[in-house]
Amino acid sequence: PLPPSLYFETVEQSPVAISITDAKASILYANAAFEHLSGYRRDEVLGKNESILSSNATPESIYRQLWRTIQRKKTWTGTLVNRRKNGDEYLAELVISPVLDSAGEIAHFLGMHRDVTREH
Ligand code: FAD
Repeated sequence: PLPPSLYFETVEQSPVAISITDAKASILYANAAFEHLSGYRRDEVLGKNESILSSNATPESIYRQLWRTIQRKKTWTGTLVNRRKNGDEYLAELVISPVLDSAGEIAHFLGMHRDVTREH
């Protein structure tokens, strides 16, 4: 078995921006790539909703569809227009998946995103 610290270091050093939230999308953990991409230091986003990254360019129907999917315990993949701390917008390709507890209920969400602005 791998030592637990290796799981942490692997996520921490991933080039993909990774965050772990509670069941309402309040951020409990963000890795180094998340800080780099968003421009926020970790202590600025902990306890905040992921909507801190939202720009007003993403239609609400997309968010509704996102929540409908993840609340059904499915993985949602899609592209959102995000905003960095400095106000710059970027296209974020996201994967959001539920993390279930031992009773099979949604306990957390895992969010992974990368900047695909240049690919569009
Ligand atoms: P709101 O008015 O709060 O929400 C818009 C619509 O979304 C609502 O009408 C409702 O249908 C739905 N909704 C919002 N919150 C909930 C909820 N708790 N339960 C059910 N339905 C809800 N958003 C981004 O813009 N960029 C990101 O990178 C991003 N990453 C995320 C990562 C994770 C792991 C999770 C779980 C969510 C992420 N979100 C992200 C979604 C984010 O949490 C917000 O829902 C979204 O930004 C809209 O927020 P708002 O305040 O603009 O709109």
